[in-house]
Amino acid sequence: MRQNLVAGNWKMNMTYQDGLALVSEITNMVADEVAAPNAPQVVICPPFPLLHGIGKLLPQGSRFHLGAQNCHHKESGAYTGEVSAKLLASIGCEYVILGHSERRQYFREDDELLGQKLKAALAAGLKPIFCVGESLDTREMNETFDFIGKQLQDGLFHLSNEEFDQVTIAYEPIWAIGTGKTASSDQAQEVHAFIRERIARAYDAEAALNTTILYGGSANAQNARELFAKPDVDGGLIGGASLKSRDFTEIIKSF
Ligand code: PGA
Repeated sequence: MRQNLVAGNWKMNMTYQDGLALVSEITNMVADEVAAPNAPQVVICPPFPLLHGIGKLLPQGSRFHLGAQNCHHKESGAYTGEVSAKLLASIGCEYVILGHSERRQYFREDDELLGQKLKAALAAGLKPIFCVGESLDTREMNETFDFIGKQLQDGLFHLSNEEFDQVTIAYEPIWAIGTGKTASSDQAQEVHAFIRERIARAYDAEAALNTTILYGGSANAQNARELFAKPDVDGGLIGGASLKSRDFTEIIKSF
């Protein structure tokens, strides 16, 4: 079901101690506020070893949820160093980020592997946050829409209607990630509307209306309000600015 949502992608940052302290600060700062009717769900996505400890700090039944940054595509077995979706679910993880451009680029995750990861996550009851987004070259060659259309078609639209219902999409232009160069709210809206239109074509109008679509890429406390005000932007996937309690809390309050 479509809902406002802010997810913090901590990437490979924080120690155990710093991570617990950050989450305590965030939950305290947000608890003081009377939640507006359109207040977002909040997903904290720390590195694997922090998930269990942070999960215990998140108030039960609140709008805070736990998310992982990756999972393996097999249920269990001899895959040294990997983590299964089933294990993540067993420690209270509800979401998992899949298809992030850093994983596509540095770990060569392609549509086929991502398809298997999506299936594994869904089978374990996790809700995937599936990322798409173009490089600067692609944008400058005016191929953004073709590129994202293909990422959706090959990476995501093989899911059944029931499976797709569980998915949140994040539009993350690669040129905006960690660069301080945010997409303008109009650029974000344009792509989000395109994604929604493609969902309507692949599934139906109801699925398009019900899908949560996040923007990610140098979103921060200063630009979140303008981005989230756009009709097809339902929240953000936040990297750098999710590592500071004040900034992240401001972003959560930007609806
Ligand atoms: P950024 O990262 O907010 O630091 O640009 C976003 C992301 O990669 O999810």
